[in-house]
Amino acid sequence: MAKKIVVLGTGGTIAGTGPAGGAGYTAAQLGVQALVAGVPGLAQAAPGGLLAEQVAQVDSKDMGCAVWQALVRRCLAHLADPAVGGIVVTHGTDTLEETAWLLHALLPVDKPVVLTCAMRPATALAPDGPQNLLDAVTLAAHPQARGVLAVVAGVVHGAREVTKAHPQRLDAFASPDAGPFGWVQSGAVRWAHDRPPSVRAPRHGALAGRLPATGWPRVEIVLSHAGADGALVDWMAAGGVRGIVVAATGNGTLHEALQAALARAVAAGVQVRIATRCPLGRMAAIEGAPWQDAAGLSPVKARISLMLALMAQ
Ligand code: ASP
Repeated sequence: MAKKIVVLGTGGTIAGTGPAGGAGYTAAQLGVQALVAGVPGLAQAAPGGLLAEQVAQVDSKDMGCAVWQALVRRCLAHLADPAVGGIVVTHGTDTLEETAWLLHALLPVDKPVVLTCAMRPATALAPDGPQNLLDAVTLAAHPQARGVLAVVAGVVHGAREVTKAHPQRLDAFASPDAGPFGWVQSGAVRWAHDRPPSVRAPRHGALAGRLPATGWPRVEIVLSHAGADGALVDWMAAGGVRGIVVAATGNGTLHEALQAALARAVAAGVQVRIATRCPLGRMAAIEGAPWQDAAGLSPVKARISLMLALMAQ
């Protein structure tokens, strides 16, 4: 028997409103009930029924641990309900990839959790949100869908790869290098390579039910660039930062002054991860250094992994 799909609203441009056809708008205005009610055909895409629940109402540029904790809690509760077949999360585009990676690290994988968003507000002349929401519900109701996925502009992305790659385009997201997991076309899901993506148990599943709403370990991101001098790193270490992710040049290379400051931070007990600032490809693994590479993660995702690792310690 078909199971229920739960749509959790968190805000974003998909829930944004502004003057019809006008340039400006405010994100996170419409409730998730209104978003669901505004999409013809949504009920047919979820034959087991739909339940809409507002978890937060934020512009995702302002995303933080309190909303993440609330979202993880609601996902855990719904995923544990045998009557629920999958979850859709409506989200802003700006930090969608961070939330996707967090959920991927925490949630059980036996049911799908599908994030979606929009580049245009709900009041635009031709909004993209309704189609994205329909595609997300279609994907969440698909019997082979598992784990955390994102669908935007008909393209299905995995949590590890997905990234916002364009500030304006409707098709703003990419899965660089690995390519997409699939597509949703005319109401049907088509998997890349004709097979559904494989899933692995969440790395920090034991943390999911006990995340605090505040006080997550402080982890900052610094950039290695021409003229970097490491002063920020010294300042952060003196201020009690627990972890630093470096968006390093090229194959994980560091400005020598920044490198010296990072070595001082490590000596003071700060954990350091090195990611590359290159948008494509994966830097080589680091060996024999006082820090680790970020296992192919982008700097923003590496920050989430390091926060969770510090919480788990
Ligand atoms: N600032 C918005 C947000 O991330 C942008 C969007 O959703 O497109 O919430």
